[in-house]
Amino acid sequence: MSWTNESARELASQFARRYGREPERIFRAPGRINLVGEHTDYNQGLVLPMGIALETLAAVAPRADRTVEVASLNRRSQWRFDLDAEPCARPTELRWTLYVEGMARVLDQQTPGLGRGADLLVHSTVPEGAGLSSSAALEIAVGAALLWAAGRRLPERELARAGQQAEHHYVGTRCGLMDQLTAVFARRGHALLIDCRTLEIEPVAWPREEPVGLAVCNSGVKHELASSAYNQRRAECERGVEILCRSDRIASLRDIEPNDWPRYETLLPEPIRRRCRHVVYENARVRSFVAAMRAADVEHMGRLLLASHASLRDDYEVSCAELDFLVEAAMNTPGVIGARMMGGGFGGSTINLVRRDAQERFVNAVTDAYRRAFGLTPEIHFVESADGVGEWG
Ligand code: ADP
Ligand code: MG
Repeated sequence: MSWTNESARELASQFARRYGREPERIFRAPGRINLVGEHTDYNQGLVLPMGIALETLAAVAPRADRTVEVASLNRRSQWRFDLDAEPCARPTELRWTLYVEGMARVLDQQTPGLGRGADLLVHSTVPEGAGLSSSAALEIAVGAALLWAAGRRLPERELARAGQQAEHHYVGTRCGLMDQLTAVFARRGHALLIDCRTLEIEPVAWPREEPVGLAVCNSGVKHELASSAYNQRRAECERGVEILCRSDRIASLRDIEPNDWPRYETLLPEPIRRRCRHVVYENARVRSFVAAMRAADVEHMGRLLLASHASLRDDYEVSCAELDFLVEAAMNTPGVIGARMMGGGFGGSTINLVRRDAQERFVNAVTDAYRRAFGLTPEIHFVESADGVGEWG
């Protein structure tokens, strides 16, 4: 192959240094943001993610045997395993290889399997653990590379599912399917309206003529509470549905429209009432956000982000001081139209709707304020939309 751009050439030459031969292909998959629709996925609701131009590359060359060898330019470590041997335990610093090995084994367990193994070298510009889904980008880029090396094709939805299964069964994260679907189906210039009940996906164009962009601001904190609270919130929503389905035909919170909410909320004890209220109104906000995108009404998009944040903070109670501060500092900056926490909560990132002529001011104002208040420097990325998985270079 002759590589058409600088970073492909660099990855290819690193590959050659490591494996003593050129890679035959390079695949890429994007990270993602979620515009609105938080904690709605496991309630069979709506989400609105967008693939971003921070991405993971996987260079690959097939092998004759059933061994997979992988290294990451984001790590010093490498890993090698035989598809016919049982997976073995590994030290914490090699935990990242579970995503790769999980993907390989899930694909190999299908009929037909992978057949042969491959040499892989990955490199990513998606920051890890910042809520931009570096894990799905890794799984999907590697999955595409392994399938190609094996001469196999797989329906795109199945590729997304394989990524989810790798996380469930090998990494041990009970994730939904949003991240993997976005890494596969993302479309440049669009967000994806995903219905988590039917898994229907509808691309929605970003209002291009509007001079506004998106910034992700990583708080740099992840509070202990995150995973226990996540399980607790899931359980609270399930409890809410259990109570409501006694008096009505409700299979999930997704079935309740805001107009009908006053009728239902009196049946629920606190804090379940507030948890469910968040989900009901968050689904409505996704629909409104889509309508606002189509009408290029960026002011309304901004108001919806702020409403989502307030609801996550006050009703769902998954925000924290750092995230609230970052949203407030953003909103105190002229040219910022809206902001909210993004992802599971208790740390991670905020997403900000910022006029393009205010980007520098946004970075300076938020960085200064956050440093003064918490002694931490936020990591800020202006993100552009990107396509889903594909061949690259
Ligand atoms: P997120 O998906 O939000 O970034 P996760 O905790 O789900 O956070 O996944 C992050 C993990 O994915 C990292 O800790 C690492 O194990 C793995 N990972 C992602 N990208 C890479 C990469 N380029 N190289 C090695 N490991 C990676
Ligand atoms: Mg992840």
